[in-house]
Amino acid sequence: MSPALEQLLPDDVLLEVMQYLSVDDVFACRLVCKRLEGLARHPNVWRHRRIVEKHCLCPVLRLAPCLEALEWCKQRSCESSFSALETTKCAVTSLTLALPTYSGYSNYDHRPIRTYAGLEIFTQAVRNQAAIGHLKHVAVQSRPLLDVVMEGSIGYVLLQGGDAFCNLLAQCPCLLSVRFLLCVPALTRPLESGPPAPSLVVFECPLAFNSDSFLMTMLAGHAATLEVVNISPGLIIDGDLLEHPNVSKLSEILASMPRLRSLKCSSLPRLETLAASKTLRDVGFYESGVYGLQGEIVKFLRGGKELRALSVTGHYRFDYVGMLDAVLASSGRSLEHLSLGDLQDVHQPLVEALPRLPALRQLNLLQLYDLVRLDGLLLGITPLTAPNLRRLELETSDWEPCAHHWLHGDAVRAVFSANPALHIHLWKASHCNPYAVEDRCGACASVCHLEAGWNFLGRLVLFAHEPGKCPAPEDHTADSKWRSVHMPCSSA
Ligand SMILES: [Zn+2]
Ligand SMILES: [Zn+2]
Ligand SMILES: [Zn+2]
Ligand SMILES: [Zn+2]
Repeated sequence: MSPALEQLLPDDVLLEVMQYLSVDDVFACRLVCKRLEGLARHPNVWRHRRIVEKHCLCPVLRLAPCLEALEWCKQRSCESSFSALETTKCAVTSLTLALPTYSGYSNYDHRPIRTYAGLEIFTQAVRNQAAIGHLKHVAVQSRPLLDVVMEGSIGYVLLQGGDAFCNLLAQCPCLLSVRFLLCVPALTRPLESGPPAPSLVVFECPLAFNSDSFLMTMLAGHAATLEVVNISPGLIIDGDLLEHPNVSKLSEILASMPRLRSLKCSSLPRLETLAASKTLRDVGFYESGVYGLQGEIVKFLRGGKELRALSVTGHYRFDYVGMLDAVLASSGRSLEHLSLGDLQDVHQPLVEALPRLPALRQLNLLQLYDLVRLDGLLLGITPLTAPNLRRLELETSDWEPCAHHWLHGDAVRAVFSANPALHIHLWKASHCNPYAVEDRCGACASVCHLEAGWNFLGRLVLFAHEPGKCPAPEDHTADSKWRSVHMPCSSA
């Protein structure tokens, strides 16, 4: 910036411009003159900034008076940035603390096979922010080193040293969200006391023997304000769940929340007490396969009214057909989003149910193991049976046959020609080994659909409408992790 121009502009205009500069450019401004040096410390330059994926946080934590969001990740951030976080005067609104996990989960049941010492090191950072007084959101996550995190097969890492950290979170006033993502805080003794006043709107924490007092105290203490609750199954083992002393009280506490609108949990004893909720619209179940509790889900669904979204993931023994009957009876006309996992025999009942789900906009079928079995379902989707369906999400880690071969099949062609407004999202669509020339299918051997980048196991969006004329633009995203294939444009 030329000195003359800079002198012409008043402070508020310069500040307006400086909020759009990159962090590096703000630092460069400081070297220009005393005036810009001073303005670079102004809250307006920083309050909207989200500092994530940055290696060295130290200069920002020294200069910025405030930030919208800050993420500290043990494997990505420099070592000294953590001690800077413990003492900084920078007021952070949303703080995410991430620990890496090096190995994954048991192949057998997806439970963690490693515990990680960790939470005590975060306590001082949160205490410092709580003292500054702007902290609203805290998230703790374990971060798998693999970039592709498999949806639907979540494992949990046990974080030791939760006592001081969880007691601190329970005492922090005015927090709006607390989330433990893919990790379980472990406590050695029950939480000392609950929150001074209810404030939390979002709470996400796995249910585990090591952290149940934290979970229960937070749910009960914030019951008046909570709107979104996610209690994932954590480290609890199916059979033990029934005997867990706190589990029997969970439904009651959840049912007492006057604003609860979104709930994810395992099947819980006495779940049907929640059916009377007037606000609950989105529910998700991590079905564990405990026979005695499956009935609780069905009873809840039968009694619940006008659900907007329902997801059930988890166990192959689950009675999806019974569940479908229950939800059709109570929420058939309102359901917009349905997500089912581990399907065995539900395709035909689902085809028959479609006309009774007139509002259905998105259908997710997860943990599939065979694409060809889907053909009957695809052929059953028409503007008459599913007038509002815009997105079909299919996920499996083991496509058989190759997804590219399937994409060339008659059923896919038929579903798109009948439903030009439909989008099919494929997750982890594996295909023939590109190097095994003799074993490749016909589709992979011919040069087509290269835009799918078949080696890539992210999300692939298939669509048939004219590009740029989408009836549902939210079904495409500019995210670099999505690829798209325009069906009629490639050789079909
Ligand atoms: Zn640093
Ligand atoms: Zn192939
Ligand atoms: Zn092709
Ligand atoms: Zn589209």
